[in-house]
Amino acid sequence: MKVALHTLGCKVNYAETAAIKDKFEQLGYSLTEFGTTADIILINTCSVTNNADVEARKIIRRAKRQSPDAFLGVMGCYAQLKPEEVSQIEGVDAVFGQREKFRVPSLVHQLMGKEQTQVNVSCIEDLPFDVALTTDNELRTRAFLKLQDGCDYFCTFCTIPYARGSSRSIPFALIPEQINKIVASGYKEVVISGINLGDYSTPDGKTFADVVELMDSMKPDLRIRISSIEPNLLNDRILRAVAASDVFCPHFHIPLQSGSSEILKKMKRRYKASFYKDLIYKIKENIPNCGLGIDVIVGFPGETDEHFRETYDLLDELPASYFHVFTYSERDNTPAASFDGVVPVHIRKERTNLLRDLSQAKQRSFYASRVGKIATVIPESYDKSTRTWKSWSENYVRVKFEGDENLAKSFVKVMVESVHGDYAFGSVIND
Ligand code: SF4
Repeated sequence: MKVALHTLGCKVNYAETAAIKDKFEQLGYSLTEFGTTADIILINTCSVTNNADVEARKIIRRAKRQSPDAFLGVMGCYAQLKPEEVSQIEGVDAVFGQREKFRVPSLVHQLMGKEQTQVNVSCIEDLPFDVALTTDNELRTRAFLKLQDGCDYFCTFCTIPYARGSSRSIPFALIPEQINKIVASGYKEVVISGINLGDYSTPDGKTFADVVELMDSMKPDLRIRISSIEPNLLNDRILRAVAASDVFCPHFHIPLQSGSSEILKKMKRRYKASFYKDLIYKIKENIPNCGLGIDVIVGFPGETDEHFRETYDLLDELPASYFHVFTYSERDNTPAASFDGVVPVHIRKERTNLLRDLSQAKQRSFYASRVGKIATVIPESYDKSTRTWKSWSENYVRVKFEGDENLAKSFVKVMVESVHGDYAFGSVIND
């Protein structure tokens, strides 16, 4: 039987889909591309915004049109948060919650052929940690390893704690085995991921700083990138370890969400704008070539022009290399959905556009600052007609360069020479 899986949303979802694919293969199913004819289709959904729900519904309908006779199952955050709504989408045969999704490969056979849509969604209390690892491109150069799941923070705009349950982590003792597996599979980079990765903790007191130090001490033939970390959890020990490491990438992605301390308080974020600002300068002082990505939400209830100006000015000042700008959208069952001071949608859009423009300018200026410097890149996709590789540098700059096809799966040193559009351009240098 042929199984097709499709993933929406974050890196953790991608890693989990890959783990589910492995289970299907172990049980003798064959995997096929999503979009081709399949007997079983599974869609791993996201629910971070209203748009994510809309996108999930679109993909579900498209999947049914493409394979009308297939068994269609839906899992992931949207399925966990709104199982009834999902079960009513035409063509859905089964809905699986977070606890059930890893059992889908063994469950699915019993559910096929049933008249009624099956809803297999239970509560999210005391969910176990499920190890998950995946690759994101055809050359298998970059893997994603989930180290942590769930979140205990309950920011007032966020549904993730309700969709994924409380914070839990991979046992510390399993980490070396996972890293060795990634190296043995030939990957050159691993992105360590989690829902609130910096909150990694184990019953015997290990923290994320211990994870960083452990991975660094293994000196794997691999570079390690931290996916995203809350500012209040990025402590001096982690910063020191990354700054001194030749394994960890000089790159952090740190959610800010708002540059106004008043709005941060309403969001129930655990830091003030001044703390965030000091942290970014401290990182740049310790790791001058560090790539810095920032998440920001605009249009949160109560965000006045003045609050937005504080956010804009802070982001304008900070030595960041790019932002991910999210337009606030009300999510059912979150405290913020009933807050006063709703920002009209057209103003949310205007603010989003202003910050996206600023992000582009920041990115261009960060890329320009790399001209004349050496980037260590991993080639990811090759255009034979122009002999050009696309790649990412250690500090998250997209680099194009001319070179042999046999450079795949290796670290390549490139002298950055210019910047055009979304890419830096350079030439391979020989050691
Ligand atoms: S830290 Fe806040 S925004 Fe991030 S997952 Fe947890 S509740 Fe959501």
